[in-house]
Amino acid sequence: MTTFQIILAIIALPLVSVVIEKLLMAFWKWIRRDRKVKEFIERIVQLEEKIKIQEQELVQHKDHKRIQEDLEIYRQAVYKSKSTGETYCIACFDGSGKLIHAVHQNTGYYCGICDKFRCSY
Ligand SMILES: [Zn+2]
Repeated sequence: MTTFQIILAIIALPLVSVVIEKLLMAFWKWIRRDRKVKEFIERIVQLEEKIKIQEQELVQHKDHKRIQEDLEIYRQAVYKSKSTGETYCIACFDGSGKLIHAVHQNTGYYCGICDKFRCSY
């Protein structure tokens, strides 16, 4: 190795290390950006699922509201449909939003689902 080559190697060594450092930094940024993209995609998927659930809840709420507007309390014992005249258990509708027929028995109404009997006054 000549003196010129040794001097050239001493000068070039820091340059090579700077280039390698720049390449590593660019690679690290690319990895971090890729990780961020994955995090954004996961977040978008989570938000889409949340929106889907909220849309279903909204539809259920609207159905519940529509049904509720058709009901009136009848003899302090049951809900009665204004449109059909059918009677439904108050506890089941208020508790779980389900329309369960309440059967008239002697002095009141009975629900076979929640096993409640309510006197009609
Ligand atoms: Zn019931």
